Amino acid sequence: MEEDPETGNSSRAERKALEKAKILQRERERMVFRLVGRALKKPESERSEEEAAALLLHREAVEELCRRQIRRNVLKRKQEEVFDDANELKGKVKQLAAAVKQANHLVVYTGAGISTAASIPDYRGPNGVWTQLQKGQAISSSDLSKAEPTVTHMCIRELHKEKLVKHVVSQNCDGLHLRSGLPRSALSELHGNMFIEVCTACSPVREFVRLFDVTERTSLHRHGTGRRCSQCGSELRDTIVHFGERGTLEQPLNWKGAAEAATEADVILCLGSSLKVLKKYPCLWSMNRPANKRPKLYIVNLQWTPKDDLAVLKIHGKCDNVMSLLMEELNVQIPKYSRAEDPIFNLATPLGPEEIQSHTREVLVAPDEQAGPTAKNEQPLEETTSLQGGWFGRGYSKGRRARKKKLHN
Ligand SMILES: [Zn+2]
Repeated sequence: MEEDPETGNSSRAERKALEKAKILQRERERMVFRLVGRALKKPESERSEEEAAALLLHREAVEELCRRQIRRNVLKRKQEEVFDDANELKGKVKQLAAAVKQANHLVVYTGAGISTAASIPDYRGPNGVWTQLQKGQAISSSDLSKAEPTVTHMCIRELHKEKLVKHVVSQNCDGLHLRSGLPRSALSELHGNMFIEVCTACSPVREFVRLFDVTERTSLHRHGTGRRCSQCGSELRDTIVHFGERGTLEQPLNWKGAAEAATEADVILCLGSSLKVLKKYPCLWSMNRPANKRPKLYIVNLQWTPKDDLAVLKIHGKCDNVMSLLMEELNVQIPKYSRAEDPIFNLATPLGPEEIQSHTREVLVAPDEQAGPTAKNEQPLEETTSLQGGWFGRGYSKGRRARKKKLHN
């Protein structure tokens, strides 16, 4: 509204009156919504005459409230965990097995749901990291140090060995695919690996695999781990890609491998991922191809995913359960995880004597060390030590600034 300088006063009064009218109007609307809302909650037979009349009179409010209710129901349904019953599950796994056998290039996408059996919490589930941090609860680090590849990790590794799975794209940072024995060439850890720190000053980038979580001092946009490159002396950084960051490291992210796999894929099997993050990477979904030329999508997840409507088959079951049934159907043995064969112990670069104190996280112990009296593994930790940050933690709570600690060595 333009103000005429001559009549400034009256137009101000007009504006005030208009504003007041608006406020009153809003107040009336609120009253109507309250009245209609109350009436709608009652069964028709219990509504008073006044309420029945209000429903007839305020059609728009009725429609709007119904729309809101539908939206609420949809949202609630999307969060619910659904389980297929045993028969349905069996039938679906048969279909999946047929697809696995027929696929020319099967690629597997995995998320936090495949690691919950290893007691690594997922993010948004009832006991997820996100949920716990939001409630101000600490996360016990004993969960992490005891984590070992699950049945699902081992099945995937075996299916790759059998040449049934060509590539694995994971959004997990727990390193469990690598530890299951899946070759790195067949793996893309899109959000990094908590056991790997790198020197980006060296060319090519120099990688240091460790036997502990290297991320305890790192957070969103702060990736320095405090340790130094043994070759050039530059500070090492973790490989974690937090929400809001763009991962550029060649390894372990291996975007090249992921993109190539997606291009070749005729079947994609998604395991334990809400796909809320993965769906944002267009190159993983061949969306530039016409719909009938895209890879066939099979999804195993308890909750709704944004790709459900595009899936050939949605299986509501726990990953370990579904994968065990699948292996039975394919007649492939599920290998047992064994620490003795865990490749991380060969890949790892030991810390120098002056670096031993550079972290406080529990160290993975090789089986031969575990047995002998020479278990020289750094500082034993109280099991109740709680995690304040690291690859999960700090990056997730936007408002919280990480405390920057200097190392004392
Ligand atoms: Zn270096």
